[in-house]
Amino acid sequence: MDFTASVANLRERVDAQSIAAQRAPGSVTILGVTKMQPREAVIAAVAAGLTDIGENYLQEARTKYVGLPAVRTHFIGHVQTNKAKAIAALFDVVQSVDRLESGLALAKAAQATGKFLRALVQINISPAERFGIPPAEAPALARRLRDEGLLIDGVMAIGPLTGNVDAAFALAAATFANVGGSTLSLGMSGDWERAIAHGSTMIRVGTAIFGPR
Ligand SMILES: *Cc1c(COP(=O)(O)O)cnc(C)c1O
Repeated sequence: MDFTASVANLRERVDAQSIAAQRAPGSVTILGVTKMQPREAVIAAVAAGLTDIGENYLQEARTKYVGLPAVRTHFIGHVQTNKAKAIAALFDVVQSVDRLESGLALAKAAQATGKFLRALVQINISPAERFGIPPAEAPALARRLRDEGLLIDGVMAIGPLTGNVDAAFALAAATFANVGGSTLSLGMSGDWERAIAHGSTMIRVGTAIFGPR
């Protein structure tokens, strides 16, 4: 497996799209989504220059995300409260905090181990998505969790596959402005170009790097 070409090609296109949106090249992070990819593919993709990788399932990451070269790891799946401790131990960033309960569990786990854990509030901008807090409720959740010591560094959202994607992305950007932080995690293989136009600082890309799952 050699992902040098696909990572370099995507980086080039992301930088071109950033410039087109009057943003600096390099200002958008590419998060490689490694779900259902073997550990060798993860290692090859990091060697190809990915600085950030993400997984949806704790169980999958447990075997894949150990002993990797230096890379930031992101949890992008639903956070079950009883798994919060293990998630906080294995990942650097949890992008999918959408309830007070799971956020509190992550805060407690990070504090207990002295781990520097960053988190994003996941908002729901698509009728097809099960998870994510209503955007209007995100600032209050962020405030409460920051009071509890959890470092909330922005917003994550999964775009709608159909309907008005631009309106949904604009809502995500407006919510990010109200929540604050440094990361708007928005855009996947099929919609990252528009996400960058709306201010995404991190795109989560699986198939466009690794091929179909
Ligand atoms: C699978 C997944 C992605 C990547 O999807 P692709 O279409 O393969 O790029 C991004 N974000 C989340 C939350 C995912 O579950």
